Amino acid sequence: MAPATPKKRAAGNIGRREFLSLSLRSMAGMLAGGGLLGLYIKGEKARSAPLRPPSALAEEDFLGRCLRCGLCAKDCPYDAIRMATPGGGIVTGTPYIEARKIPCYMCEDIPCQKACPSGALDKGMEHIEQARMGLAVLHDQETCLAYLGQRCEVCYRACPLLGTAMTIEYKPGENAAYFLPIVHSEACTGCGFCEHVCILDKPAIKVFDIALVKGERGPHYRKEVLR
Ligand code: SF4
Ligand code: SF4
Ligand code: SF4
Repeated sequence: MAPATPKKRAAGNIGRREFLSLSLRSMAGMLAGGGLLGLYIKGEKARSAPLRPPSALAEEDFLGRCLRCGLCAKDCPYDAIRMATPGGGIVTGTPYIEARKIPCYMCEDIPCQKACPSGALDKGMEHIEQARMGLAVLHDQETCLAYLGQRCEVCYRACPLLGTAMTIEYKPGENAAYFLPIVHSEACTGCGFCEHVCILDKPAIKVFDIALVKGERGPHYRKEVLR
């Protein structure tokens, strides 16, 4: 018999009914604007706009304002901000964050924002918790250890906003109990710590451009009815 595909194996581990129910719940969660799970987006290209430093304007406005001076990168105490070089797929000379290498440490005093002379990093943002650099999505349930029945929780423990941006949902299964990390879009800053610490060779959770992954519910859907 041909070996089971990764998808079939994942379904077999959790149990078909539970897997289906989890998938449906994930979709319902997305529609409801709550926890985000189960997006099958793969590859770096799916990110769309790169992660910009906290409080960056919307991408088009940011590109119009940014002077490519590098002062934000210079003042970042963690060297989380890189300056794009030619050929990398990001507008040359602009600052970006590569979370898998160095995430944003969410400095309370936001030195990158203070250093920006052009307004490309909006000084109107008062608290780092208001940053929306992107949105973390656990996009690959087929490789995430938590979905395979192992108690991992590494991304959850690393989240600076543990308990609000990320929670753990307990799910009893046929052969194991599942402790599933759930990202909450209303609190996730896109700092990238979860992506940075994911113990897989390639992370099962990544920060994406919010516009790429966030759904929008029509006004005729009432949240309380969907739950
Ligand atoms: S908040 Fe701190 S760690 Fe994050 S990009 Fe700005 S200076 Fe760097
Ligand atoms: S400090 Fe502001 S203007 Fe200078 S590179 Fe950073 S974002 Fe652009
Ligand atoms: S991107 Fe940051 S805030 Fe969002 S879930 Fe990951 S670690 Fe938490």
